[in-house]
Amino acid sequence: MTELGIDSRAIERDAPQYNATLVRRDDQHDSLGYFWVRFDADPTPFASGQYMTIGVFADGKLVQRPYSIASDPARAGDEGYEMYVRLVQGGMFTPLLWQLPLGHRMRMIGPKGKFMLEPDDVRTHLFISSGTGNAPFISMMRSSLREGRPRRTVFMNGVSYEPDLGYRELLEGWEASGEYPVQYIPSVSRPGDPANAGWAGRTGRVEANVESVIDELVLTPSNTIAYICGNPDMIIAAEATLLARGFPEPQVKKELYWPKGKEPKAGPVPSDE
Ligand SMILES: Cc1cc2nc3c(=O)[nH]c(=O)nc-3n(C[C@H](O)[C@H](O)[C@H](O)COP(=O)(O)OP(=O)(O)OC[C@H]3O[C@@H](n4cnc5c(N)ncnc54)[C@H](O)[C@@H]3O)c2cc1C
Repeated sequence: MTELGIDSRAIERDAPQYNATLVRRDDQHDSLGYFWVRFDADPTPFASGQYMTIGVFADGKLVQRPYSIASDPARAGDEGYEMYVRLVQGGMFTPLLWQLPLGHRMRMIGPKGKFMLEPDDVRTHLFISSGTGNAPFISMMRSSLREGRPRRTVFMNGVSYEPDLGYRELLEGWEASGEYPVQYIPSVSRPGDPANAGWAGRTGRVEANVESVIDELVLTPSNTIAYICGNPDMIIAAEATLLARGFPEPQVKKELYWPKGKEPKAGPVPSDE
């Protein structure tokens, strides 16, 4: 059973279905982390924006979940498929993932998904994400950069607390150096919280900032394509704003991390995560 912070399930160290290994892990803090899982045999090709499903056996059952790949496809085979994951208290899989030591074997299948860039698209790319929903955009940007064709990008990422901002250094570095033509627009939804003391950026949920951002940057249906990823409530609200501003539906691409209305057993997830 998975109770708040206590997980007594026995994780199986080996199983015939295991075909990959956890090769690296960087903790951002106690409930956010970057994980790299490498196939034991030949890597499977994927396109930026797609996801893999990873899992382990616990108490005799395969527990697995899908995760967007943040890696450049050209590097994932050697380095492992990079995933940016939030620990969901009371969740089925993430409390197991948090317990895995480096070198632990896993099952990984995929890729799957159609949340991908349009080829040769010269429009501005408006990437809107909540929390870990920024991961597929990192893969898209890494591969576009490697191909020498970075696309003008406005990167909105909303979190509850400043320490939750993932890939911040990478994005700020790209923006500052001009290596990638990106405008990074992070936001925190709880400005009054002590964790956000000193925050000088945008406040409020990411979806509530969409209208002002598209106005300020003059992002219109004729010059912009939008991609939205993460929490379903955020996606529905951000999409509604864009459709109301004349964006045709096919010009607003979406990747929902869970079905709307589905909560983990431990309680509701705020819509800014
Ligand atoms: C296509 C796809 C790609 C995904 N990519 C990622 C990713 O890159 N990073 C990632 O952390 N998750 C991602 N997810 C979500 C992931 O698959 C799991 O649902 C999540 O890790 C929780 O698993 P769990 O078994 O611990 O919780 P479960 O017992 O399955 O509980 C699920 C509930 O946890 C909550 N939840 C799920 N994901 C998150 C999240 N990211 N942040 C906050 N609350 C959440 C929701 O309320 C959801 O209903 C993705 C989901 C899909 C469908």
